[in-house]
Amino acid sequence: MTRSVRAYLDWNATAPLSAAAQAAMRAVWEEGPLNPSARHRAGQRARAIIEEARETMATHLGCRPEEIIFTSGGTESANLAVKGAPVARYLVSFMEHPAVMRPAKASGRPVSLIEVDENGIVDLNALSRHLVADAADDAPALVCLMRASNETGVIEPVHQAVDIAREHGALIFCDAVQAVGKIPVDFADLGVDMLALSAHKFGGPQGTGALIVREGVELEPLLHGGGQERRRRSGTENVAAIAGMAAALAEVCENMAEKAKRLSALRDELEAGIRALLPEAVIFSKDAPRVPGTCYFAHPAWDAQTALMHFDLDGIAVSAGSACHAGKGEVSRALIAMGVPRDLAKRAIRVSMGPGTGKEDIALFLHSLEKLARRLKRSAA
Ligand code: PLP
Repeated sequence: MTRSVRAYLDWNATAPLSAAAQAAMRAVWEEGPLNPSARHRAGQRARAIIEEARETMATHLGCRPEEIIFTSGGTESANLAVKGAPVARYLVSFMEHPAVMRPAKASGRPVSLIEVDENGIVDLNALSRHLVADAADDAPALVCLMRASNETGVIEPVHQAVDIAREHGALIFCDAVQAVGKIPVDFADLGVDMLALSAHKFGGPQGTGALIVREGVELEPLLHGGGQERRRRSGTENVAAIAGMAAALAEVCENMAEKAKRLSALRDELEAGIRALLPEAVIFSKDAPRVPGTCYFAHPAWDAQTALMHFDLDGIAVSAGSACHAGKGEVSRALIAMGVPRDLAKRAIRVSMGPGTGKEDIALFLHSLEKLARRLKRSAA
């Protein structure tokens, strides 16, 4: 953990590299140069490491090994799914991450944004309506719906969206970057056509991820070159990172239900503390199903950047909105779509936890929040 940080509560931005991932990566580096495309022994060894990682990941993600394409992370996976899909238009939920929204808009194909309710849950009737209303062409549409929000942690009704997409002959892509490692994610059970994940959100290394693609869905590759990953993603594979990602996934999936229970209890404790100290604070998506360790809230009287700095001075790492909005002064599109007034939306702070978070981290945060609450009271008086 970064030494100057006393309480790291920004796991949705990035999780610490897990011990299992570190060990797996070190073991690969110690083997020497490994290029899986090479024909010699070292190359064969590299290929074996990658295929073993693919098998491990397939087991934990409910897909077949051949359906996994290794990529450089969530952004590339989403770009490949969105830009590479053989579709005529997109239906994108308002909650989607820029890694999904921007390639859809950049494709030049029509994009319909799908409304969400006050908790950020996609409006399935609106999805049906858009699928009917905008259907004008022979090529299918692509529905883009995330499994869990990076901001509020809300869990989207992907199963139901799949049924609707199927009824209208549409393909469906699920960004599961914030779900993998937090709740069970099973590709076959979800029934989507494509699913994206990113290693650094669950204890694997940064710059590594995967796109799972159902057999039969033909994607146009983003990267052309040596034809790796069955011609779907060229470029020499990052063998150590792939091994690290698989090891991290196996570790995080172990006793997931127990870990989730513990994190839910920690979040309840955190939210009870927030409500006691700041009764006017608004906790977003509170009454909807959420991934266990995410709390997104705003106070009508604080400035989010000032609050962030206050926590930072106390050695507490949280973020103002998602890491992507933070620092750019942008207001969360997701919160606006949920009907949150702009003036409140810009004051949102996200606290996110993971397997390494303990009671002491929550206590440190609440202690710091108490000081901030006193300051707010003084300035209001
Ligand atoms: N999708 C979601 C929901 C995310 O939260 C993120 C990262 O924050 C991404 C995609 C992009 O993933 P990566 O950082 O691996 O490019």
